[in-house]
Amino acid sequence: MEIRTRFAPSPTGDLHIGGARTALFNYLFAKSMKGKFLLRIEDTDLKRSDSSLSEKIINDIKWLNIPWDEEIVFQQQNQNKHKQIIDFLLEKGLAFRCYSNKEDLTETSFRANEIRGAVFRSPWRDRVVKDQPSMQNVVRFKVPSDPSRINFTDKIRGDLSWDLNNIEDFIIARSDGSSTYNLAVVVDDHNMNISHVIRGEDHLTNTVKQLLIYRALDWVPPIFAHIPLIHNTIGEKLSKRDGKSNLLDFKHEGFLPDAMLNYLARLGWSYKNEEYFNLDQAISWFTLEGIGKSPSKFDVKKLLYLSKKHLMAKPVNEIHESLLRYMEVYKNINISESCSKKLSLFLPLVVERCATLGEIFESSLFLFEEEDVRLKKVLALLEHSSKKTLTEFVAAIKSINLIWNAECLNKFINTYCHENNLKFRDIGVPLRIVLTGSASSPSIVHIMEILGEQKTLDRLNLSIDLIKN
Ligand code: GLU
Repeated sequence: MEIRTRFAPSPTGDLHIGGARTALFNYLFAKSMKGKFLLRIEDTDLKRSDSSLSEKIINDIKWLNIPWDEEIVFQQQNQNKHKQIIDFLLEKGLAFRCYSNKEDLTETSFRANEIRGAVFRSPWRDRVVKDQPSMQNVVRFKVPSDPSRINFTDKIRGDLSWDLNNIEDFIIARSDGSSTYNLAVVVDDHNMNISHVIRGEDHLTNTVKQLLIYRALDWVPPIFAHIPLIHNTIGEKLSKRDGKSNLLDFKHEGFLPDAMLNYLARLGWSYKNEEYFNLDQAISWFTLEGIGKSPSKFDVKKLLYLSKKHLMAKPVNEIHESLLRYMEVYKNINISESCSKKLSLFLPLVVERCATLGEIFESSLFLFEEEDVRLKKVLALLEHSSKKTLTEFVAAIKSINLIWNAECLNKFINTYCHENNLKFRDIGVPLRIVLTGSASSPSIVHIMEILGEQKTLDRLNLSIDLIKN
């Protein structure tokens, strides 16, 4: 049997971390079994779907470097097939048209609720309806009462059994004739020869409904694997309220796709004690048995830790390229050739202090930012005595002819400190603040070298002017 999995997002919002993980697990499983991973956009709910969101989701999957096989399937294009199956089920008496209006429904479900454990059973399920074509209706699946249970084996949760008295006569076609999720998924998964459906545990009741449809159609269902949900730090389902929960948030912060994939893979799946790995390793180690049964906790600290490791493992020229792209896309900044050169010299100094492209960007801002506004702000960080020390130091450095490189600058500052009874940091800290905007930065003499003599002196002169005024 060829292993074929799919990721089937509904384009109703940005790609959530949980969705990204589902895509990854489906991909890893398929590839670990030398199978195929397919992408299907479930865009049949016209009221809620948005084509620009489909595009965003597709771009997010691309960004993660999860390649799919075959053409993307857009569910809308399969609507005729869905309708044929709905008609077939109606013909066979396995589904029925339900003409209940809202009031009837509230009344019936109210009564159903009064009988403990009972769920909605439409009054139309066993009626022979003739000559009412114009009345609004939906099509419901006739949930059988015999056998009253459905059993199936989930690859992660083991043997499961469901009481069908808890499953309502669910809608398979809306009043406009379009099929609902449960019907469309079964038809599409069957037609796409999907062998394994790997998705979040929140779909368990859908699985029961889908299995009923498979049974009614006499189709062999795929194997199901339901992944435990992702929780926040206080053990609730991860949601928008937790701040960052969409892939987009992490792209904005400048996490690398490799780090994101590594972290997502570890969210609920493990292989021995491996924490830090790449996609190929994950493929070679992946099994459904490696997925845990309990919810996983989303831990930003762990993500940052992995992100830093992935960042440091990258060659500087690649980081440089990624950073330029990051700045263009997320910060709307295009830097000049000479700034880009300075940036490439600065990167080796700063990478080990950062975990994301966003952090590198913040630390590098001083290389290309315009001075005055920023300087006014940073000068407030300097104490009066430091301003005085800086003013005197600037006068001294301007008065001599220096070879402008880190080594000579270092020698000069050391001699100056020695002669004036100062410690290196008495000069180093104000210089850092004025030149980079932060009291902590990589080696200040290297930064001065990268900025260049002219730029450094301009910046120092401007600060002295501002200090005086
Ligand atoms: N469109 C469904 C969702 O986004 C797909 C669930 C499934 O994998 O069947 O939740």
